[in-house]
Amino acid sequence: MTSSSRRRFLEQTALAGIAAVLPGPAAAAAKGMAQTVLGPLDPSRLGVTLAHEHIADGPFYLDRWPKDWGGRAEFTARAVDRLKVVRAAGIGTIVDLTTYDVWRDIGFLEEVSRRSGLTMIAATGQRFFPPVTKVAMPARTIEGLTAFFRKEIEQGIDGTAIKAGVIKIGIIGKVPTALEEIGLRAGARAAAATGAPIRIHTHAVDRAGESLAPILESEGIDPARVSFDHSDDSGDMDYFLGLVKRGYSLGMDHVHRGTPPEFKPAFERRAECIKLLCDAGFANKIFLSQDSEFGGALLPEDKKEWRDKIDPPDGLLFTSRRLIPYLEHIGVSDADIHTMTVENPRRFFALV
Ligand SMILES: [Zn+2]
Repeated sequence: MTSSSRRRFLEQTALAGIAAVLPGPAAAAAKGMAQTVLGPLDPSRLGVTLAHEHIADGPFYLDRWPKDWGGRAEFTARAVDRLKVVRAAGIGTIVDLTTYDVWRDIGFLEEVSRRSGLTMIAATGQRFFPPVTKVAMPARTIEGLTAFFRKEIEQGIDGTAIKAGVIKIGIIGKVPTALEEIGLRAGARAAAATGAPIRIHTHAVDRAGESLAPILESEGIDPARVSFDHSDDSGDMDYFLGLVKRGYSLGMDHVHRGTPPEFKPAFERRAECIKLLCDAGFANKIFLSQDSEFGGALLPEDKKEWRDKIDPPDGLLFTSRRLIPYLEHIGVSDADIHTMTVENPRRFFALV
């Protein structure tokens, strides 16, 4: 996608958003159920769950390198084949945190879920706020964004009946900008109205979770319904313990980024923090995932340089193949691994 066609795409999506917030019949989300792209599911059937990934932007890569593909059908077939491998390796559910403003293609997500047998949960919310990009819901008020998020959870996404089951909000720096704060408050209000949980792109290096918690709490949110994702970028146990004692969860989903020697914290330190949190009794506050850009991973070998920047080694199976064996090696119990990969998602993604 060229930058102008990308802008056009985003503008059209934003216009669809205006239409989307017009009043329509309210439909209560199913309490106690996980809301997947194939409909409500008993959360005990989610299985091993990757809580922060990106699948739904796959067709963006098709548009960017169209010559490498026969077309959408071939691209989708390749995606399904790859996801079947992930399913066969024991992953039950992938939570897709691709919001409308970062090329979410809900039809693609539904199709690859149905054909691969992997359960998928789609996200509403917003990743980027101005001035980072010009694109945001035109209303740009707490009320306007709350209505848009609720619409995607209660009625459906982009004119379909496919409903979001989680709210994703992006906060880029240590403290939110004025517009990011509007998004954060809207996320909290949509969570209260629908029972959906919130996952936040958090700048952990600057302890951003500590800046966001008071805003969330001023909206009356239950911290148990919030996960600060990319937390392992911090490596600071004092920061981690402060947030989990306050009731928040931590997404440890960048662990692969510590693998190259030039990146800190190192893989070993990120894993050690997970063990220390388990030892302190907080396995019930941790999610393991890898923030993978799945569409990029499907690119041909000659695009590898770019692909390598965005996708973890082993792709969607880094956690299974590399992280969990290492955690076991340093003494994390099977029970705690089960808690982090199965029990926490079962509880968190059930609508309350
Ligand atoms: Zn992400």
